[in-house]
Amino acid sequence: MTQRRPMIAGNWKMNCLRADGVALATALAAKAGERGVLGCDVLVCPPATLLSEVVAATKDSAVMVGGQDCHVATSGAHTGDVAAPMLADIGAGYVLVGHSERRADHDESSTTIRLKAIAAHDAGLAAVVCVGETEQERDLGATLAVVNGQVAVSVPDGATAKNTIIAYEPVWAIGTGRTASVAEVAKVHAAIRAELVERFEDGDEFRILYGGSVKPSNAAELLAVEDVDGALVGGASLKVDDFWKIIETC
Ligand code: PEP
Repeated sequence: MTQRRPMIAGNWKMNCLRADGVALATALAAKAGERGVLGCDVLVCPPATLLSEVVAATKDSAVMVGGQDCHVATSGAHTGDVAAPMLADIGAGYVLVGHSERRADHDESSTTIRLKAIAAHDAGLAAVVCVGETEQERDLGATLAVVNGQVAVSVPDGATAKNTIIAYEPVWAIGTGRTASVAEVAKVHAAIRAELVERFEDGDEFRILYGGSVKPSNAAELLAVEDVDGALVGGASLKVDDFWKIIETC
């Protein structure tokens, strides 16, 4: 069986002013120590305003840094946006693309998300491609069709296990305190894995993270599910102790 190194990723969303963000990153870096000591990869995705300072605060530690979004273009007249080469330039190694809040708030389609993933790859970043069904789609029994469809369109042909991570995040579980059951998570992750294996030579090596109200009390059972290779954590990633407890379950 393929051994995949787990990843625990924190999505800070639109939270933290400078003092709080730097303190959080500094505390995590101190706990994490140097690369190679931890049993999993640790990634934090702060808002764009804090990226430089979080990169500086986590330098020489096991904590890696990513953006929360990137534009499809490398530069140009796109007021308010951030280009993938800009993220790479300040020392980020990753970028989230297709988070459900971006899909909903900015009407991002899976086609746009594929272009963003390609922009990330071209800039030397790994893309964390987020997918997940809404509550309505779940109630209609369409979860697998929706998720497999999003993966098919959002993940570019040039994806590899090194430059792409998938995050399965049921929309109804994000920030709600509700989580998918272990059986539901197992079913969806298995379907994503099957799709990746069919499409990519190294499909068995891609990491598939689960996200949606992951917290210290449920992390162990979710991370024990087959084909769950880590977690994308929102709310609980803003508290050092909670995020650290999740990291320790790896
Ligand atoms: C997220 O923002 O990706 C997320 C999963 O949030 P939360 O953990 O708060 O549900």
